[in-house]
Amino acid sequence: VKRLKKHFAINNGLFKDKSYVKAVDNVSFSVMKGETFGIVGESGCGKSTTGRTILRLNELTSGEVLFDGQDISTLSYEDMRKARRKLQMVFQDPYASLNPKKTIRQILTEPLRVHGLFTKKEREEKAAEIIEIVGLHVSHLDRYPHEFSGGQRQRIGIARAVILQPDLIIADEPVSALDVSIQSQVINLLLRLQMDFNLTYIFISHDLGVVKHITDRVAVMYLGRIVELAKTEDLYDQPMHPYTQALLSAEPIRHPDQKRDRIILKGDVPSPVSPPSGCTFHTRCVSCMEICKTEIPLLEIMEDGRSVACHLYNKM
Ligand code: SF4
Ligand code: MG
Repeated sequence: VKRLKKHFAINNGLFKDKSYVKAVDNVSFSVMKGETFGIVGESGCGKSTTGRTILRLNELTSGEVLFDGQDISTLSYEDMRKARRKLQMVFQDPYASLNPKKTIRQILTEPLRVHGLFTKKEREEKAAEIIEIVGLHVSHLDRYPHEFSGGQRQRIGIARAVILQPDLIIADEPVSALDVSIQSQVINLLLRLQMDFNLTYIFISHDLGVVKHITDRVAVMYLGRIVELAKTEDLYDQPMHPYTQALLSAEPIRHPDQKRDRIILKGDVPSPVSPPSGCTFHTRCVSCMEICKTEIPLLEIMEDGRSVACHLYNKM
């Protein structure tokens, strides 16, 4: 993903001039085959929009998305539709993402049919196979979404994505709508499927605990930009960006011998319509310096390979 931007125009009330929300602003990262890449941040930071824009469920404003060397950001609608066979999404809300009027059989065979794969009989066999793989039963194929629990519906949503044997799945808060007791079951299912089907995940979440558990690397977003990108272990052991430090300090400590001072963030996340100048985090940062108010810090690579966008670490 190179310099991805998604700016939304919004109408500014009485004055007919347009304002823009820079929901995603110059976001760059690469995801390696087979890894789980996390995107974390508070709600409204642009993480879902990043995921949706990569798959062009939103049209992008500018930037490139290279998938296996091909720039999918310029594909025609028809070619993008074909490319989606390899790039699937699992949504946050299993209630809203399944058509209530269709049986599970129809829901699962539809992606195969749309992509012109297999005969009808083969598609039904695939559906019967995948429904068991995700932990449900063949007899469930003739039922409707409302007959299932939230966790079961998310299993069906996952089955619908996996049935196409994609390379990449973007999972946007896939367990956030579920009871905590169900979350780990669904996470374990995702991990098992990753092994069995060689999947690569982009895992979007505000839940730092879940992200720590399943990702290999993490990007932290704030107001549409990546502020830190690191190996999961490094990020959690030693967060460098003041925002990452504040986010992690608010997490419950799981080991009693680990101590972390809680950093209280000042104020709320500023409006993305008129974000602060310079470093957009400067209004809440405990380490804010003069330069932070005017100059946007670039995402720079540190010695341990992580990237951080903060003037505290400027090499100059
Ligand atoms: Fe804080 Fe300045 Fe770093 Fe921004 S650039 S996070 S304001 S120290
Ligand atoms: Mg979201």
